[in-house]
Amino acid sequence: MMNDLLSLSTNAFIAGIEGVARRFDTATYPQQNLPADDWTLLTRAGVLLPTLPKEYGGRDDHLEMCRVVETVSEWNLPLGMYVTVITAVALRPIVLWADEEAKQEVLPHYAGGDPAICGFASTEPGCGSAMSGMATTFEEVEGGYRIRGRKHWQAFSISAHWWLVSAKNDENGRTYGYFIVKRSEGFRTLRPYEPLGLKVIDYGLNEIDAVVPRHRRIPAEGRNLRPMVEMLMASRAMMAAMGCGFLRRISREAHAYADQRRIGPGPLSEIRFVRYRLAAIDASYTVCAALNHYLRTALDMKDAMIGAFPAVQAIKTVATERMLSSAHHYQQLAGGEGYRCGSPTNISAQAFLDARVYTVFDGTNDLLSQQLTEYCLARTAGRTLSRFLAEWPLTASAVRAQRLDLGFLDGDLRQEHLVLAGRAIAYAFAIGQVMRWAAETGADPARARAAIEFLKADIAGVATEFGLLATGVLGPDAPPAQAPGRAPASRSVPVPSAAWRDA
Ligand SMILES: Cc1cc2nc3c(=O)[nH]c(=O)nc-3n(C[C@H](O)[C@H](O)[C@H](O)COP(=O)(O)OP(=O)(O)OC[C@H]3O[C@@H](n4cnc5c(N)ncnc54)[C@H](O)[C@@H]3O)c2cc1C
Repeated sequence: MMNDLLSLSTNAFIAGIEGVARRFDTATYPQQNLPADDWTLLTRAGVLLPTLPKEYGGRDDHLEMCRVVETVSEWNLPLGMYVTVITAVALRPIVLWADEEAKQEVLPHYAGGDPAICGFASTEPGCGSAMSGMATTFEEVEGGYRIRGRKHWQAFSISAHWWLVSAKNDENGRTYGYFIVKRSEGFRTLRPYEPLGLKVIDYGLNEIDAVVPRHRRIPAEGRNLRPMVEMLMASRAMMAAMGCGFLRRISREAHAYADQRRIGPGPLSEIRFVRYRLAAIDASYTVCAALNHYLRTALDMKDAMIGAFPAVQAIKTVATERMLSSAHHYQQLAGGEGYRCGSPTNISAQAFLDARVYTVFDGTNDLLSQQLTEYCLARTAGRTLSRFLAEWPLTASAVRAQRLDLGFLDGDLRQEHLVLAGRAIAYAFAIGQVMRWAAETGADPARARAAIEFLKADIAGVATEFGLLATGVLGPDAPPAQAPGRAPASRSVPVPSAAWRDA
């Protein structure tokens, strides 16, 4: 049966996924952990196949990985995350970098349509943003490695059969390692967590005390955390696909609600401020569609992605911010009905709860924005930051065509400025992608123009926040965190000497 899926064209394959995804419509599907039988429906429709290599029975296709997640997210955003964690976060590093023996042990479980699940265990109770603070350790023992520690908030804490676990060893200076662990080898859940949204996924506090064979260590640079950043690139980029599917749905639902709800003599949608909120939702959908176009056409999850670090940081922060702000607009439009679980008239309460965590997990947006600025500052080569951005391939077209004035970024940048500057850089990147998307897909120019105007307003908002900070709202000044042109502070930010593909 799975073999039949291999000969399908991409469109026929995605149509099959769509047919099954509809059954998980968030308007009617229960807010509960996904039963194994339902996961089987999706695996038998082939949701894992684009991630798997052909020799392991997969379709091995970057574009299809994106389209599967976009399609599933349109019907059920948490399920889009479900698929993303298993494919882009957990299986991808195994496919790309694991030992052949480890691949042969793990991958066949995911090719046959069985309800196998795997997760990525990195975050610990004591550290999430600064992973150098991890306490989980590994040590060499006879026949392999012993891994001990606690991890929390892992997707599939209770249900995953296999794990990709990060750990450290301090015996000869700090080394990091990444290991494929079978649950039965010593991964147990001490306590389930109840998340506010994303109810199809189970979470918890986990304890690991496992010995794994030597071949299950992923060969990766051990002295710094860059391999972990690389492993997170695909899921961060996938936010564009999730955002595109989710916002297509939210736009449709919000317009339908506003057209059918009557306020006094006329429909809600005739109120001009309501139309402004709808326009903001539609602009966000356009932005995510453009970022998704970039993901599909300029990135490749089938290869190392660290060269796309700045683009991916921008995609993750902008797409997730747009998902959250649109869910908020939609919920506001729905009035009291938008605060009702299981309302028959709208899905906005659940949409907001599901979207809420996107700006937090997979690297909190504030940290990622700071890192984006640090990345750019390390490459200015004596130029001001605004001059650099006017010449950088990822932002130059937007700066030129939209006459963006980014001069407010050129002063001394303290930590708070680094975060805000990263947002402005990401908006400039997004403007460039909306322009590229419009040119390459023949999209409605009015739609592109509106999205660009919203993004320009966001940049102006950042400039206003710079002005606000200059009034001294944070109290006495601290010394600048970053003088222009100096090396970046965060060690997770790739350094200029690395092999870069700045596109
Ligand atoms: C629903 C959900 C699913 C998750 N799934 C997984 C998973 O599958 N696997 C896994 O390993 N982990 C997972 N996580 C963990 C997630 O990645 C972390 O929660 C996230 O990285 C933030 O870490 P933290 O919670 O420790 O927050 P902290 O590190 O304590 O940060 C808290 C806040 O501090 C602020 N902050 C931090 N640094 C900066 C900065 N430089 N500038 C400005 N502000 C800053 C931000 O506002 C940030 O949100 C998940 C979390 C949730 C909630």
